[in-house]
Amino acid sequence: MPRPHIVIVGAGFGGLSAAHGLGGADADVTVIDWRNYHLFQPLLYQVATAGLSPAQIASPIRAILRRAPNVRVLLGGVSRVDKERRTVTLEDRVLAYDCLVLATGARHAYFGHDDWESVAPGLKTIDDATAIRRHILVGFEKAEAVDTHEARRRLLTFVVIGGGPTGVEMAGAIAELARVALRHDFRNIDPREARIVLVEAGPRVLPAFPPVLSEAAHKALDRLGVEVRLGTPVTQCDEGGVTIGEERLEAATIIWGAGVAASSAANWLGVEKDRVGRVMVGLDLTLPGHPEIFVIGDTAHVPGADGQPLPGLAPVAKQQGAYVARVLRARLAGKPAPGPFRYRNFGTLATIGRRAAVADFGWIKISGTLAWLLWCVVHVSFLIGFRNRLVVILDWLWSYITFQSGARLITGPGSH
Ligand SMILES: Cc1cc2nc3c(=O)[nH]c(=O)nc-3n(C[C@H](O)[C@H](O)[C@H](O)COP(=O)(O)OP(=O)(O)OC[C@H]3O[C@@H](n4cnc5c(N)ncnc54)[C@H](O)[C@@H]3O)c2cc1C
Repeated sequence: MPRPHIVIVGAGFGGLSAAHGLGGADADVTVIDWRNYHLFQPLLYQVATAGLSPAQIASPIRAILRRAPNVRVLLGGVSRVDKERRTVTLEDRVLAYDCLVLATGARHAYFGHDDWESVAPGLKTIDDATAIRRHILVGFEKAEAVDTHEARRRLLTFVVIGGGPTGVEMAGAIAELARVALRHDFRNIDPREARIVLVEAGPRVLPAFPPVLSEAAHKALDRLGVEVRLGTPVTQCDEGGVTIGEERLEAATIIWGAGVAASSAANWLGVEKDRVGRVMVGLDLTLPGHPEIFVIGDTAHVPGADGQPLPGLAPVAKQQGAYVARVLRARLAGKPAPGPFRYRNFGTLATIGRRAAVADFGWIKISGTLAWLLWCVVHVSFLIGFRNRLVVILDWLWSYITFQSGARLITGPGSH
């Protein structure tokens, strides 16, 4: 009898964790991703702000899974799922499955303002990060060359929209790039005069963290010279700048960190989705009525212990991937399935510049240098590949000691 075929779509945190858990299982596993690499998104902002190079935060999926002989990797994009025939459709083929794991993550959401995307790019992929890096660095280059104060002011104004972890980390890193790494490199401008504005429509930054840590993050941003605007939404974004409430701000660089929506998995399945497009799944992470289909990570709506949906975080996706592998292994062995999925929260972290961070472990909340050191240890240890870990540590040490950031290359379209 042929072995069951398990298809995993997406080799992000969730899909990769499921694939790892199924390595050596009595099943054929196919992992499909439209990228050939796994991306460590939590460090993307460092690529966007010239702290790290893309290859330091990404690893080839094929290499990561090379020790699992029953797992094969296919490069391709899934655009359709047929639940009745049990097939997924890629660009060039239709693939049958016995079990399907959808782990296709999330993308930016502009809440009905899709036209803002071209002027206020979001940060989700390596291409996004290198495009933002180009935009930021070109801003300084052009400011060095222009003659008028107004033009210089606009080129040196950077607006980050959204006060969640991505927005806070981006704003802090741009401020440090301007005030520290670039400060001696220009002759006509003083990069330290750059204006970095972080706009959050809600009443505090890092709304998912306890208020005491939001306050600590706000103070750390103040110390870096970031202007934090709270309580007023952005009402317009265009080539010239942004409008915050009624106030117009001329800015050459606008970065979007305000919202995400789930991938299109709910549309492929033709099922109920929540406000941000996530598929409603049961506590065993399967689609109601379809025990052979699992949906995990940023694409799934799974209630946590407090009844609220679990947040879109890497540990949530990883734990869900590992859980699905345990369920499938139990099924393959004819054993009873494990109990419902339960997320174990080991804590959440966000960093603000070179020496400040906030860490919420529930029972203890820390901010400042200790939290920053913890942030460094956690992020390096979760990077895939020994080489990446070593190179990132060396790069961080180097920039910490020399105040330089190593990846200040302007590449891509329009770079020459
Ligand atoms: C800038 C940024 C910073 C973040 N910082 C943190 C942080 O500090 N801490 C934290 O815990 N979380 C952080 N997150 C969130 C975290 O990265 C996500 O929660 C996590 O990646 C979700 O895992 P996932 O497996 O659901 O999706 P992803 O990791 O996004 O993986 C989805 C995979 O599916 C593939 N894919 C998508 N659609 C298709 C398709 N149609 N066909 C084939 N392949 C497809 C993609 O290429 C990708 O490899 C951050 C996210 C971003 C964007």
